[in-house]
Amino acid sequence: MSLEPLSEQRIRAAAFQWLANQCSLRGSEVLPIDVLRVGFTIDGRLVPLMGPQGIFKPRVLSLPLSITTAPEGPYDDVFESSGLLLYRYRGTDPQHRDNVGLRTAMKQQVPLIYLHGVARGRYLVAWPVFIVGDNPKSLTFTVAVDSPGEQLDDISATADGRRAYITAMVKKRVHQQRFRERVLAAYEEQCACCRLRQLALLEAAHIIPDTEPTGEPIISNGISLCCLHHAAYDGLIIGISPDFRITVDRRVLKESDGPMLRHGLQGLNGQGLILPKRKALWPDRNRLAYRYQLFQENLGRF
Ligand SMILES: [Zn+2]
Repeated sequence: MSLEPLSEQRIRAAAFQWLANQCSLRGSEVLPIDVLRVGFTIDGRLVPLMGPQGIFKPRVLSLPLSITTAPEGPYDDVFESSGLLLYRYRGTDPQHRDNVGLRTAMKQQVPLIYLHGVARGRYLVAWPVFIVGDNPKSLTFTVAVDSPGEQLDDISATADGRRAYITAMVKKRVHQQRFRERVLAAYEEQCACCRLRQLALLEAAHIIPDTEPTGEPIISNGISLCCLHHAAYDGLIIGISPDFRITVDRRVLKESDGPMLRHGLQGLNGQGLILPKRKALWPDRNRLAYRYQLFQENLGRF
């Protein structure tokens, strides 16, 4: 059977659509490596989205389809202060075929996929991204993320401003997802209050919010919580003391309102927090104390 000739644009568009479907099915923009390596089928041909090297070109395309930053980093210095992203050449030879491929993608403004490792075997996906600069002195390309669906009225005055803004948002999401992955792994993917193990319902709560100077995205400033207990912790309905005891707001203890309240909240009062096996990953007591103080002050106001 002869195959219909595949237009490169059509394959790229199909790759983007497939990614959108995968993210929506999983309710997450972080996809596992196996899914990305296998990829999708178009006209009976398998198109993987990533390979063993950072710059990846599937056989059916003449130019690269994706660029990958490994989870082991370096992840901070890939984002430039201008809001754009710096991506290292493959090796040190600017004429290596992978580097030539990206350079051609830049000249033709071909949209690519960006994969940023946020944990072992797990990648945050962003598309379309464009190569917008070639820096042979530093052996890097400058990369900008775009998002056709995004409505940015006040920022979209210039295409550059828009891309810098969207790239900066991707950077922020990379940080958030790395934090989530690391905190959930420390707690063996369960809620530290109720042991719930449903990954889709688990979140990484900050002890000190990330808007404050000490609210760093480190494991000792995080607790793995289900969405109910995360909201209850953020809303000062439950407090966690520096000796890892859970206290429930006494006003909530007096209410009677069905099983969720009884088991989900009231039953936690006085219980110990479920802690990571490794002590080095336990929540920081000073940060817990600071937050617990807020909980107590909130109680005192009524
Ligand atoms: Zn929970």
